[in-house]
Amino acid sequence: MDIQNLLDDIVGAVEPLTLQGDVADYIPGLASVGLGQFGISVATRNGDVFSAGDADVPFSIQSISKVFALALVLAGDGDRIWRRVFREPSGNPFNSLVQLEHEDGIPRNPFINAGALVVTDRLLSISANAPTAVRELLRQETGNPSIDSDADVARSEAAHGHRNSSLAHFLASYGNLENPVEEVLEAYINQCALAMSCTDLALASRFLATNGRRSNGTSLLSPLQTKRINAVMLTCGTYDAAGEFAYRVGLPGKSGVGGGIVAVVPNNCTVSVWSPGLGRSGNSVAGVAALDEFTTRTGWSIF
Ligand code: GLU
Repeated sequence: MDIQNLLDDIVGAVEPLTLQGDVADYIPGLASVGLGQFGISVATRNGDVFSAGDADVPFSIQSISKVFALALVLAGDGDRIWRRVFREPSGNPFNSLVQLEHEDGIPRNPFINAGALVVTDRLLSISANAPTAVRELLRQETGNPSIDSDADVARSEAAHGHRNSSLAHFLASYGNLENPVEEVLEAYINQCALAMSCTDLALASRFLATNGRRSNGTSLLSPLQTKRINAVMLTCGTYDAAGEFAYRVGLPGKSGVGGGIVAVVPNNCTVSVWSPGLGRSGNSVAGVAALDEFTTRTGWSIF
């Protein structure tokens, strides 16, 4: 398989799609990112990396950070988090308040905002290097010490974060936060504002394709925990379009409103894509098409 050739082909194939969709503008710091950009990277279980297009342009990973926070909580605290967060698709927008009241303050899954706030809360409680634990993990797995939160994106989300504030206060009212609301929100917003490139993202998530093994050979997660995270990504990782994503791509994946998506081919590689134009469900239009093309041409889907 000539992966480099394939990625170069995919860049050409999806180019017209990179002008489709809309950038997320409910976070003002993301509204100025230009359409027409597309990057793709593959990191293999052996550490080889292949990249094409705008694969080295940093972008805001937003909700993709939720995967790393969950991995750190499972690594540090085992299954305890599942008493506070369910693992079912929500069937509602990622920032919905309605379901949380119906379900007595237990979020549907760790990848909607309410669930991610609970995970970040737990990370603050258990992590020695909170609130920068996610950033440190990304730096270590990529070997890139310059990965950081984009201060403008974080500031603009904080200034417009009424919904997430509501969710956090709501969770607190049900006793489902251990730390002060303001601290949880700050950690969550900074984690979402982390910026990195496709190449970094593929490398940072490689532990999901290696049964939990980190780049330094130690284990972050057990094979069972890795299986569990991949399963939740498959069912809940791509907003209210996880069924469509499974149908087209056939891999566990996690998307963010910055236009990035990371997908996992278990025991083989990770594939990251970025293109800022989002479709109606919030997933990158060109990104989903590229992953569809990738798994169709390689046969590397879990189905
Ligand atoms: N920081 C964003 C929010 O909470 C993340 C959204 C996303 O990427 O899904 O609204």
